[in-house]
Amino acid sequence: MKPPAFKYLAPTTVDEAVAYLAEYGYDAKPLAGGQSLIPTMNFRLAQPAVLVDLNRVQELSYIRPAEDGGVLIGAMTRHVQVERSDLVAQRLPLLHETVPFIAHPQIRNRGTYGGSISHADPAAELPAITVAHRGRVQLRSTRGSRWVPAEEFFLGLFTTALEPDEMVVEIALPALPPRTGWAFDEFSRRHGDFALVGVAAAVTLSAQGRVDEVRLVFMGVGDRPMTSAAAPAVLVGQEPSDEALEEAAQRAAQEDIDPFGDVHASAAFRRHLASVLAKRVLTRAVERAQAR
Ligand SMILES: Cc1cc2nc3c(=O)[nH]c(=O)nc-3n(C[C@H](O)[C@H](O)[C@H](O)COP(=O)(O)OP(=O)(O)OC[C@H]3O[C@@H](n4cnc5c(N)ncnc54)[C@H](O)[C@@H]3O)c2cc1C
Repeated sequence: MKPPAFKYLAPTTVDEAVAYLAEYGYDAKPLAGGQSLIPTMNFRLAQPAVLVDLNRVQELSYIRPAEDGGVLIGAMTRHVQVERSDLVAQRLPLLHETVPFIAHPQIRNRGTYGGSISHADPAAELPAITVAHRGRVQLRSTRGSRWVPAEEFFLGLFTTALEPDEMVVEIALPALPPRTGWAFDEFSRRHGDFALVGVAAAVTLSAQGRVDEVRLVFMGVGDRPMTSAAAPAVLVGQEPSDEALEEAAQRAAQEDIDPFGDVHASAAFRRHLASVLAKRVLTRAVERAQAR
């Protein structure tokens, strides 16, 4: 299928791009890697009158060290650049572990960090990882710039805090605290497909080996990345025993997610997968925290 006709604009700076977004408002959409937007247009699920192509905006493509020990990622940074970045591997091992799960190499060559989080597919990896890292998203418009915490950026199914005249320019991901272990895992029917369920974990241990902090974030089982409240309630202050991790995983899968059923899997099966994967990532995160 072919998309409906649209006006094509190719700015070379952020200032120019936001000026176009201000001029065309709801009629315009930024074009990043095109891996979600173009198929949606071809199916005529989206019919933007104007495309603002960000691919020539060089200033949006970078991975830089942040002063707080984390990493700053420009919105047009491709998934493959994140996957191959030594800085990301060293400072953000949770993100490094997760990126190869995104789609296929061809899609990772084109898809961008900013495009993925702006699209806000609840089954996508980067929104969940951005939340698990307690990341922040910088938005720009002709009105100025603002930072939005990842937890407040994702509002619902394919819905974010972006206003029509705003675009994502940068993602700031803080490093995980000391004595923190991490893990990501997901289950998909075929390698490279969107996952039925995915889970990211970060567990921080005290000097005595008890759990200080837990972040457990699910994808594919709600209308946005779902942060568990039950897992910290079960684990914080406790020894991370196998029984405690099992209870945390079970309760998180019962209380913190809202899976739907479709042709790929029933809601009950997704909930079961969520509990199995949660136990797996919590266990691996604890092992890594203990080894640090
Ligand atoms: C076959 C296939 C399998 C896939 N599997 C997966 C998968 O397993 N996991 C996964 O996470 N993704 C998957 N994807 C999607 C892929 O990761 C895309 O890269 C991603 O969803 C969108 O990134 P993009 O750069 O291509 O954005 P685009 O498609 O160009 O844009 C997506 C949306 O974001 C908006 N947008 C883009 N950039 C900005 C910006 N800077 N500011 C504001 N709005 C912006 C666009 O206007 C559009 O609405 C798959 C895609 C395909 C085709």
